[in-house]
Amino acid sequence: MFSVVDPNRPILGPKFYREAGIRAIMTNAYLLKRGRPGQLPKDVHGTLGFKETVATDSGAYQILEYGHVGVKPSEIVAYQEKIDTDIGVILDFPTGFHSDARRARWTVDETVRRADEALKRIKRKDILWVGPVQGGVHIKEVARSAVEMGKRPFSIYALGSPTELMEAQRFDVLVDMIVAAKKGLPHSRPLHLFGAGHPAMFPFIVALGCDLFDSAAYALYARTGRYLTSDGTQELAEIEEFSCLCKVCISITPEEMKRLDTSEREQLLSKHNLLACFSELRKIREAIRRGHLWDLLEHRAYANPAFKKFLAKIIEHSPLLERFTPTVKPRGISHFGEASDHRPEMVRYSVRRSRVPIERGKALVLLPGRWRRPYHEDPRNLPIVSKLANRSNVSICFYTIPFGPVPMELDETFPLAQTESFDSRDPIVYKQRAGQVTVWVKRLSPKQVFLVSEGEYGVALGKELSGGTMKFEVTRIQAKGSKPDRTVGSIIRRLG
Ligand SMILES: [Zn+2]
Repeated sequence: MFSVVDPNRPILGPKFYREAGIRAIMTNAYLLKRGRPGQLPKDVHGTLGFKETVATDSGAYQILEYGHVGVKPSEIVAYQEKIDTDIGVILDFPTGFHSDARRARWTVDETVRRADEALKRIKRKDILWVGPVQGGVHIKEVARSAVEMGKRPFSIYALGSPTELMEAQRFDVLVDMIVAAKKGLPHSRPLHLFGAGHPAMFPFIVALGCDLFDSAAYALYARTGRYLTSDGTQELAEIEEFSCLCKVCISITPEEMKRLDTSEREQLLSKHNLLACFSELRKIREAIRRGHLWDLLEHRAYANPAFKKFLAKIIEHSPLLERFTPTVKPRGISHFGEASDHRPEMVRYSVRRSRVPIERGKALVLLPGRWRRPYHEDPRNLPIVSKLANRSNVSICFYTIPFGPVPMELDETFPLAQTESFDSRDPIVYKQRAGQVTVWVKRLSPKQVFLVSEGEYGVALGKELSGGTMKFEVTRIQAKGSKPDRTVGSIIRRLG
């Protein structure tokens, strides 16, 4: 993440960045140029007193806002080269939030035209050049822009995200925009999301495949007395205790901070806000290392209904996320309930299950998948499984809470044996899972079915299996009170 620095009004100094371990900042080439009329361009690292990575935005948005027409696209490229930027952005044409489809189309075409012109003018190949994707809220235009820009050799692509969307919490539109851009762009290049500066939304945009982003929010929010946290925004005026223990928050109480003069307060709040962003990034990176990013999304969804909607929209794109999720992770996953059904690993499992080769007309034994995994190693299942597994006319399937049906063939594949789940004892969940198991049973079209029934889930499954017109007979055996050896004995006796 780049912390955005106003070159003409820097709030935090290089010392703070150094101490906080912040190694990349972003500033605005246009504002830098405008703030130094008549001066020769000089190294931006020197100007800002920052030795590490400096990215410069072209200032297209400001130029649009101020209606400044005196800057040519080629000039901004040349200026960024002269100030020795590390990452530069070509002068694009932002679509903004209020453009209609026709206008959006025009901004996409104009940005492509400017990209071609910029690529001709670029002399410095040691600068990473960013190609912005336009289209605003017009998803078709975003898709078209991504494909067109993706054909051009930029080191980084960026999506202009209208700040209005984030302020209005229209995360649903944002999800569609990011997905449209990701689908059209080359996967080997990073994607930067402009202006996504609130830590609460970081896990969502990272899950969608945004590699880089920048935050001006830390400073903008500080200016109006707002304190950023991973769960949302708090008004300084309403805080009694700081929940954070960063060096700002341990050095002052909210009461004392409220009494400071405006600029001092703004500076301290900016520091805390920025540290809150970086703390969230650490949390995300750790979650990724553990393979637990989705858990973070589910957790965050409960911070605010708008985030719940954010996640619901992401779930619509689960198959896309599945494609980019590692097949095996260092740790197991957690299944908390309905939202977890859509996590990429679960989506993958249902696809895999549908691909398991099946032999019809066998006898099917349905066993309860309890907490012990792999399910066949459950001491109450093992004696049954070991006597039946080698019989060519029998297939075995476990009925489980997190996965519904688990055919024996998949019992030891990731993440089945490594998944922690919980049984909410909710009749609706039992019925829904029993329905999934029944679909699987029908697919096998077995000759006969033995249901080793346990608890309410077993009852629900028995009901589902006997409903409608089934072409097989179902034998129910109560797991409770019957020793596994006796259970398997009675199954073998009745095998046709
Ligand atoms: Zn703090």
